[in-house]
Amino acid sequence: MQPPSRPNQPKPEPHASIDCARAMFRGCGVRCTRQRELVYAALAGTDTHPTVEDLLIRVRAADPGISQATVYNTLDTLVSCGLAHRLPARSAGGPCRYDADVSPHVHLTLPDGRVIDAPQSVSDAILSALGSSGMDGTGIDAERIKGVHIDIADA
Ligand SMILES: [Zn+2]
Repeated sequence: MQPPSRPNQPKPEPHASIDCARAMFRGCGVRCTRQRELVYAALAGTDTHPTVEDLLIRVRAADPGISQATVYNTLDTLVSCGLAHRLPARSAGGPCRYDADVSPHVHLTLPDGRVIDAPQSVSDAILSALGSSGMDGTGIDAERIKGVHIDIADA
């Protein structure tokens, strides 16, 4: 497995994200509604790996009438058509987080609960090591690895 190609560039501006979202929605055969655009733009415009609650606050700044159900449903659509990843809850009953960066990469959960992307060089090294032979004997196809999550303990 080659290290994933993930340009180390800032997230696109919200307007660029909406343009991108329109093209990607069309490519997935998903109807592009204003509310879907808002949710995608809010997700793509941050690298904080927001929860539904975080996204709801962001999208309500632009559309106070948007419902939590719409945000949930839109995120399900984005995940099912490959435009976003759902990061599993880190604790039982905890919230899932979402990421518009769908390239394989490594996440770090900090002691304060924030989730950040590992530096590109770290992601590349870990994913390359897993892909070259690191999964031998596990029965897991390294090509199926969508990402890696590392919890950072308190000092
Ligand atoms: Zn990420």
